[in-house]
Amino acid sequence: MTCLMCQNPENFRKLFIKEFKYWKLALHNNQCYLGRCVVILKRHAEDMFDISNEERDELFEIVKKLKTALIDTFHPDLMNYSSLGNEVRHLHLHVIPRYNKNVEFAGITFMDKRWGQNPSPYDKGFTVPENVYERLVEKISSKLR
Ligand SMILES: [Zn+2]
Repeated sequence: MTCLMCQNPENFRKLFIKEFKYWKLALHNNQCYLGRCVVILKRHAEDMFDISNEERDELFEIVKKLKTALIDTFHPDLMNYSSLGNEVRHLHLHVIPRYNKNVEFAGITFMDKRWGQNPSPYDKGFTVPENVYERLVEKISSKLR
């Protein structure tokens, strides 16, 4: 089976926040949940419980730092984490900040329309201008240092 993430690792280059030894951190291209990120394993694997102890330890370090960065920056009311693999088999973890109020960033109001419910299904057509993606990547990167 062909894996889109293995074949086109540069696809999401503009959304990359930081590269680690085993994982890459990227902003999710849908920001209807402001600050939503994806942590992607750099090798191909399909099941979260097939990773090595080193990969697991690094994942936990990354997500802990990211969580702190997102809380400092956007003040979410809850964090959601999901690893499903139904559409993309390549192992990745979604880090989804959730909000019980509107949040402003770069002059845009972000509304968590599904607060209190699972994040999916969400507005797949939701987009922000290019420069807002850049500002988000910059902001989150600066908080990770
Ligand atoms: Zn893959």
